[in-house]
Amino acid sequence: MSDKKVLVAGGGGFIGGHLTAQLRSEGFKVRCVDVKPTDQWYQVFDDVENVVADLKYLDACQAACESVDDVYNLAADMGGMGFIENNKALCMLSVLINTHLLQSAIEKKVGRFFYASSACVYNGDKQVCEDVIPLKEEDAYPALPEDGYGWEKLFSERMCRHFREDFGLHTTVARFHNVYGPFGTWDGGREKAPAAICRKVIHAKETGAKEIEIWGDGKQTRSFMYVDDVVTGIRKFIENDIAEPVNLGSDELITINGLVEMVEEIAGVKLEHNHNLSAPKGVNGRNSDNTLIKKYLNWAPGIKLRDGMEKTYEWIHGEYLKKHAQPA
Ligand code: NAD
Repeated sequence: MSDKKVLVAGGGGFIGGHLTAQLRSEGFKVRCVDVKPTDQWYQVFDDVENVVADLKYLDACQAACESVDDVYNLAADMGGMGFIENNKALCMLSVLINTHLLQSAIEKKVGRFFYASSACVYNGDKQVCEDVIPLKEEDAYPALPEDGYGWEKLFSERMCRHFREDFGLHTTVARFHNVYGPFGTWDGGREKAPAAICRKVIHAKETGAKEIEIWGDGKQTRSFMYVDDVVTGIRKFIENDIAEPVNLGSDELITINGLVEMVEEIAGVKLEHNHNLSAPKGVNGRNSDNTLIKKYLNWAPGIKLRDGMEKTYEWIHGEYLKKHAQPA
């Protein structure tokens, strides 16, 4: 393996950082490319080629794909519901990243190409009830994805399919369902529910506040996948050359209110819940049907939410204390 070089596009991000750590440990030579300055990357490794470049541009993608065997495309302008509902055009511009990376992969004779899609591709009509039927891969069509972000993902999935069919590039697409864990966004507006809830509970605990705000009525249901599971899954998807988009998500369902209670238990506090019904809250219910991933891989994400949330809470708590530390 050690003679292989791989590109992690979006390597300065949450999942890209964890994937890079895994690829290094497996002996790959890694090139990480991200648009952010390296001091804003979640994880930076000295033995990795770290490049700052905007992958919306073809020439940056050509340089990034030079002499690499595999491409992992995790680069996207994205965030939680608060970001994607209010930045649809920015989300859609990520189509340039995947399109130019695919073109460059062909030109530079890359062997395999992984694309990170999302459960946001699924038809909204299938996600109106909290009492969900888990989403099967076929539920993406007829198409009615999340506006902006989901359309970009669905279109990019399709591009991957046609690059496989027309040009023989080994494209593999996983539809991630909510990923959480340490070394990710936990404040600033792009964070997702698990990190946002940890931060709010930590803030209440540290300041003595008695209540926290929850977006929506809290009855919306979701499944959340710990980041170690997504990294294991990504590696399995590319090694097994799965040719169709397949769910990569936990099927442990919980309501947002249930998640808040779990975090309160971890923190050892009980708070009043102030529901903001006009805040972005996404679909009412979503879960991952894992029949197809088990058929392909005889494996599915299985890390328990409580175990992952304890680690995530601990990390965010440390980051919160660092940020709010009083100068001596
Ligand atoms: P992230 O925001 O932490 O990472 C994405 C990275 O891409 C960021 O570091 C960002 O700076 C970089 N990027 C954005 N535009 C770029 C550009 N023009 N050129 C180069 N780099 C650019 O997000 P993440 O949670 O690590 O997500 C990784 C991938 O997984 C994304 O494609 C995302 O859509 C997908 N995904 C994530 C989740 C989740 O719950 N985290 C769920 C579904 C899908």
